[in-house]
Amino acid sequence: MSISKNIADFNHQLEGTSARLIAVSKTKPQEAIEEAYAAGQRAFGENKVQEMADKAANLPKDIEWHQIGHLQTNKVKYLAPFVALIHSVDSIKVLKEINKQAKKVDRIINCLLQVHIAEEQSKFGLSYEETADILCEIAKDYQNIRITGLMGMATNTDNEQQVRKEFAGLKKFFETHKTKDLCPNVALQEISMGMSGDYKIAIEEGSTMVRVGSSIFGHRNYDQ
Ligand SMILES: *Cc1c(COP(=O)(O)O)cnc(C)c1O
Repeated sequence: MSISKNIADFNHQLEGTSARLIAVSKTKPQEAIEEAYAAGQRAFGENKVQEMADKAANLPKDIEWHQIGHLQTNKVKYLAPFVALIHSVDSIKVLKEINKQAKKVDRIINCLLQVHIAEEQSKFGLSYEETADILCEIAKDYQNIRITGLMGMATNTDNEQQVRKEFAGLKKFFETHKTKDLCPNVALQEISMGMSGDYKIAIEEGSTMVRVGSSIFGHRNYDQ
C-alpha cells in the first residue's frame, strides 16, 4: 500500500464535492507524513497534543495542524501557538482555556464545536441545546476564538441508515443556525464529519472536512 497513491485516490474522490481531506496521522511516524506531504497533502489531524507538537517542530512550516481528539485543558497551552483548527471543542471549560492561551500568544484560534450525534454514551460532545447556546450567546465572551463550524462523529455501526440520519441531523442543525442571530465571532462554514468507515455517507450529507486515517496510512497498532 502506498500513502501517496492513497492521497491521490482521495483527492480524486473528493473532486467536485464540498469536502476536503484532513489526513489523520496519529500514531504514525514522521516519514508517513513526509510521504503524504510530498504527494501534496498539507492538512493533518492528530489527537495527542504532545505528539502533534513534536511532529510540528520537525516538519515543514506550511503544514496545517488540526486537533481532532478530546482536548484536556492542561494541554491547550502547547498547541495554542501553532494549531490551525481545533475540531473538538466539547465544553465551555475548554473554550475558555483556548481563549486564554490564544490571547497569550496573540492569536485568534479557529474552533469547531463537537456535537454529540452518536447513540453511544462514551463519545465526547455537546448536546444540540448546549451548542446553540454557545453559538448564539456564550461565544461572544471569548474574543480570541472564532467558531467556524461544527464537528460530529456518527455511531460506529454497519447500519448505514443510522449513520446517515446522524450526519443529516447535524447538517440540518448547521443550516438552521446559519441564518440565526449568532455571536459576531461565529461563522458557520465548516462541517467536519466522516472517517475511513463512513466518509462517503458524510460527503453525501454535506461534509466539508473528512478526517481520514487508516484508509490512507494503514491500520494503527493501537487505537487512540
Ligand atoms: C482517529 C480519528 C479519525 C480517523 O479515523 P480512521 O477510522 O482511521 O479514518 C477521525 N476522527 C477522529 C476524531 C479520530 O480520533
